Amino acid sequence: MRVMAQMAMVMNLDKCIGCHTCSVTCKQTWTNRTGMEYVWFNNVETRPGQGYPRTYEDQERWKGGWKLNKRGRLTLKAGSRLRNLLTIFSSPKMPTIRDYYEPWTYDYETLTTAPLQEHTPVARPRSLISGEEMNISWSANWDDSLAGGPELAPSDPVLQQVSDKVKLEFEQTFMFYLPRICEHCLNPSCAASCPSGAIYKRSEDGIVLVDQDRCRGWRKCVTGCPYKKIYFNHRTGKAEKCTFCFPRVEVGLPTVCAETCVGRLRYIGLVLYDADAVLEAASVADEHELLDAQRRVLLDPNDPEVIRGAERAGIPHDWIEAAQRSPIWSLINRYQVALPLHPEYRTMPMVWYIPPLSPVVDVVADTGEDAEDRGNLFAAIDSLRIPVEYLAELFTAGDTAPVTDVLRRLAAMRSYMRDINLGRDPDESIPEAVG
Ligand code: SF4
Ligand code: SF4
Repeated sequence: MRVMAQMAMVMNLDKCIGCHTCSVTCKQTWTNRTGMEYVWFNNVETRPGQGYPRTYEDQERWKGGWKLNKRGRLTLKAGSRLRNLLTIFSSPKMPTIRDYYEPWTYDYETLTTAPLQEHTPVARPRSLISGEEMNISWSANWDDSLAGGPELAPSDPVLQQVSDKVKLEFEQTFMFYLPRICEHCLNPSCAASCPSGAIYKRSEDGIVLVDQDRCRGWRKCVTGCPYKKIYFNHRTGKAEKCTFCFPRVEVGLPTVCAETCVGRLRYIGLVLYDADAVLEAASVADEHELLDAQRRVLLDPNDPEVIRGAERAGIPHDWIEAAQRSPIWSLINRYQVALPLHPEYRTMPMVWYIPPLSPVVDVVADTGEDAEDRGNLFAAIDSLRIPVEYLAELFTAGDTAPVTDVLRRLAAMRSYMRDINLGRDPDESIPEAVG
């Protein structure tokens, strides 16, 4: 066992209201400059939806992440660093500016001087990049206006794969928000695909950074990152990405997105992991076993053997204590309520999500009771508004069982807290299956 430390984040999706405060504060801090207009290190995308950049989950198209070759070994879909070195002049497979969204601004003069109209404003948005007036046909949260359901968001690549259960009627449509930053992966395919060796993972805390002096602008990293969380600055000709706010983290401050999050849904902290187990876990053949494999790589920071391993590795005592205080390992492994985004990309992402339980607004048919009350919510898991299959495509490579387990725990916790708030004995409402 080779113990290393990693900064990580868990986001509780039930709490995200899609206000974009995190995106805006991140942009003001990190990408508020020429060449980065289209870039959101932190974005909040609508689900179901195409994401940002749109269709980034289509790995056959963009060639991101890792796959297993015939011998069961990991290979980059985008091509190895050596191969990319030999083919550096071939075009990387990159989304266009229109896939990210073309930055635009209102025609404020017309907006304020136009005569009163019966219906909507008539001023059209203008492109910031080309300066030409244009019809903006898409942006990162366009799907907000469309809601979920196959007829209403037909181009969503995940939605197309789920079962007939998602053939929803209008009143059963669903949506939620998915905030995203760079995953600061344990097995980052951006770094492995860079011909210049400009991308590195800091040994002390696992933050993945781009050495601006070494970057030669080949953009193979943009192709190689399956989450499309590394961006090309067209002014400087270099790649840039989320830095996990390392200058703040180094002085004990949280990331900007976490500090300013209105929903208080971002938990950040250190985790300890077994660096020797990373590649083996990322190479598990059965995609449905990737979740457990990735959980096992993260080590219990209170385990004496792990503590001794951390001391041997030179991890400072106050960092070990920070990992013990951090909620990350507990949310992922003790309570098992957090899941990784697309573990099948095999990069071992270090931003995990507590999936949305979603509102349960029905009444129980035969009793007329509130479905959120006591054990009713637990029983209602099978008929939640957000299909478990949809969440499974996002978080468990399509395996519904672990998602259902998480939702049952969240439902039990919600019932428990409701009882406490209503002055009832909470132990009576916990189903035996949860314990
Ligand atoms: Fe690299 Fe971040 Fe993409 Fe992972 S999510 S491959 S660390 S840019
Ligand atoms: Fe969601 Fe928090 Fe971002 Fe608002 S600030 S969009 S609540 S993650």
